[in-house]
Amino acid sequence: MLNEEQIAIQDMARDFAAEKLAPFAMQWDEEKHFPVETLKEMAGLGFAGIYLQEEHGGSGLSRFDAALIFEALSGGCTSTAAFMTIHNMASWMIDSFGSDAQRSKYLPGLTSMDLIASYCLTEPGSGSDAGAMRSKAVRANTKNEGDHYVLNGSKAFISGAGISDVYVAMIRTGDGGPKGVSCFIIEKDTPGLSFGANEKKMGWNSQPTAQVIFEDCRVPVENRIGEEGEGFKFAMMGLDGGRLNIAACSLGTAQRAFDKALDYAKDREQFGQSITEFQAIQFKLADMATDLEAARLMLYDAAKNLDEGRPEKTRKSAMAKRFVTDSCFNVANEALQIHGGYGYLQDYEVERMVRDLRVHQILEGTNEIMRVIIARELLT
Ligand SMILES: Cc1cc2nc3c(=O)[nH]c(=O)nc-3n(C[C@H](O)[C@H](O)[C@H](O)COP(=O)(O)OP(=O)(O)OC[C@H]3O[C@@H](n4cnc5c(N)ncnc54)[C@H](O)[C@@H]3O)c2cc1C
Repeated sequence: MLNEEQIAIQDMARDFAAEKLAPFAMQWDEEKHFPVETLKEMAGLGFAGIYLQEEHGGSGLSRFDAALIFEALSGGCTSTAAFMTIHNMASWMIDSFGSDAQRSKYLPGLTSMDLIASYCLTEPGSGSDAGAMRSKAVRANTKNEGDHYVLNGSKAFISGAGISDVYVAMIRTGDGGPKGVSCFIIEKDTPGLSFGANEKKMGWNSQPTAQVIFEDCRVPVENRIGEEGEGFKFAMMGLDGGRLNIAACSLGTAQRAFDKALDYAKDREQFGQSITEFQAIQFKLADMATDLEAARLMLYDAAKNLDEGRPEKTRKSAMAKRFVTDSCFNVANEALQIHGGYGYLQDYEVERMVRDLRVHQILEGTNEIMRVIIARELLT
C-alpha cells in the first residue's frame, strides 16, 4: 500500500512521463538526441537527487520512492529515465562518501542538473571482473600543481561520456584486486581527459555512450572520495541501488508495452473475430500480467530491504535485478509478438521498448553476475 505522499510522487512522475517524455521518445531514439533540457526539468521535480540528503538540494526520499519514480518515468522514455538513474547513483556516491567540501561543491549543481554526472567503472579489458581494472592513478607533488594524482588508462561504455560535467571514476591506486581501487571526482575540463566517439547501439539511443580516456590526467588529491582503497566498496554500494533503479525502468517500460498490447489485441480482428478470442493470446496476456505483478512485488521488497539496510540487501537487489529485467524483457517481447508485423514497425513503439530493455540484462552487472552474487551468499 502506498501512502498519500507516495501516490502524489508517483502521479507527478507519471504526468511528467506522459507529457514530457512519451511524445518525444521516438524522435530522440531516431535522432540519438540526449534531452538535457528535459532532464533539467525532471531535476526541477526533485528527480536528480531522489535519495540524496536535503542539505545540498537532495529530495531525501527512499529507495522505494525512487523505484516508484523510475517505474513511472520509464513508461515515457526508458533510455532517458535510465540515464537519470545513473546520474542519481553517481551523485549519491558523492553525497554518501564525499567530504563536506566535495558535497557543498558538487551537489547543488548535481541536484539541479546544472551539472550532469557519469559513473565510470567498466574498462575495455574488465567488465564483469571490474576489480581487475588497470587504469592507474599515481600520486605526485609539484610546485605548480600541488598534491595531485596522475591518471592513465581508459573506461569503456560510459553513459553520458563527453556530455557529463562530473565523472565519478574508480581508478587503481594500489596493488591488484578490488582493495587497490580508489574513487575520484573528475571534472570534464581536466587536462588529459578526453572521450571516444559515441558508440552506435541497439537501444538506449537518447543518451551517449563512449570511452573516457585518461592521458597524464592530473586530478587534485582533494577530488579523491574517501580513503585510498575504498573505491571498489563505494562502487558496489552504488550498484545495489543502481540495480533496483534499472529494474524499475524495466518494469515501467514492460507495463507500458503490456498496456499497448492489450489495447491492440482488443482492436485487432483476424479470422472474423477479435484476436482476444484466441486462447493463445489470452494466455499470453495472462502470463504477462502475472510476470509484471511478480516483478513489481520483488522490486518493491528489495527496495524496502535496501531502505532498512538489511543484511540481505545485496542479494535481494541482485535477485530483483535478475528477475525483473529478464521477465520484463520477455513481457515487452511478447507485447511485440501480439502486435504481429506492426510490432516490428517503429511507429508502434514496442520495438524500441524491446531494444531499450535488452541492455538492462547486461549492464550494472550482467544477469549471470547477479547469479554469481546470489549463489555466493547461498554457499557461504
Ligand atoms: C549501453 C551501455 C551502457 C553502459 N554504461 C555504463 C556506465 O555508465 N558505467 C560503467 O562503468 N559501465 C557501463 N556499462 C558497462 C556494463 O556494465 C558492462 O558491459 C557489463 O558489466 C559487462 O561487462 P563486459 O561487457 O565487459 O562483459 P564481460 O564481463 O566480458 O562478459 C561477457 C560474458 O561473460 C559472462 N561472464 C563474465 N564473467 C562471468 C562469471 N564469473 N560467471 C558467469 N558468466 C560470466 C557475462 O555475463 C557475459 O555474458 C554499459 C554498458 C552498455 C552496453
